[in-house]
Amino acid sequence: MGLNYKQQLEVITGLFIPPDTTMRLDCPFCNGKNTLSVDTMNDNINWHCFHASCSAKGRYQGEKNMNYVNATFKQKEESSDTEFIIPDSFKILYSNDKAKKYIHKNNCWEAWSWGRADIKYDVKQDRVVFLIRDNEDPTTFVGAVGRALSSIIYPKWYMYGNKDVPFKCGLPEHKEAIIVEDCASACAVSNILTGVAILGTSLKESHKQYLKQYDKIYVGLDRDATKKSYDIANELKSYGLQNVHVKPLSDDLKYFSTEEIKDMFNNE
Ligand SMILES: [Zn+2]
Repeated sequence: MGLNYKQQLEVITGLFIPPDTTMRLDCPFCNGKNTLSVDTMNDNINWHCFHASCSAKGRYQGEKNMNYVNATFKQKEESSDTEFIIPDSFKILYSNDKAKKYIHKNNCWEAWSWGRADIKYDVKQDRVVFLIRDNEDPTTFVGAVGRALSSIIYPKWYMYGNKDVPFKCGLPEHKEAIIVEDCASACAVSNILTGVAILGTSLKESHKQYLKQYDKIYVGLDRDATKKSYDIANELKSYGLQNVHVKPLSDDLKYFSTEEIKDMFNNE
């Protein structure tokens, strides 16, 4: 059910349930039989559907002036834009052998085991999923990126939730960041410098905003994306970031161990 709070409230108030009533009825959102509970006790309207896949749930407090109502709606709508509810189909990584193999083969295991990356397995889509933390508040997730574990699953990379915030992996003390192709590469470099994945897209405003905090920025895309690397470096420079360098790579960063990456960036 994709209805937001305001739409739900409209439907619920349209039921004209009298004050101080508690009742069960068929859910107008999911058509569940007798699954919707509504109570209008103490000048509130509370509603909640017991059907597992139905998101009908809310609370409206009393009869107040319009400013109060607008403020409540606004707050609800803004938070629903950024909040990402982790789907039930995301299971612990170790519940699937292919997922386990993928993170070992692509040098993500270390980042995952040290808590630098939040990686799960989506049993519904058969993907390794990398959860994306909010740029300002790293304790909040805003979305996820899922890598298909079999060649018949399309697309290879799937974005869940917010599509503008980049996946990044690193340590708070890092002064250097590198733009990489995918989440696995971002994890592979994350003990040495912070990896920021662009996932085949162009730079977005949120990427540039996020990169402003670093003293030095590398662009390290795949070997066959050299022209794109220079384009991105130029774009960052014209954005006002001065210390930007294209990093020539002999292979994808996800195929290098932490020790190899350390050597690569210490020999500058
Ligand atoms: Zn329902």
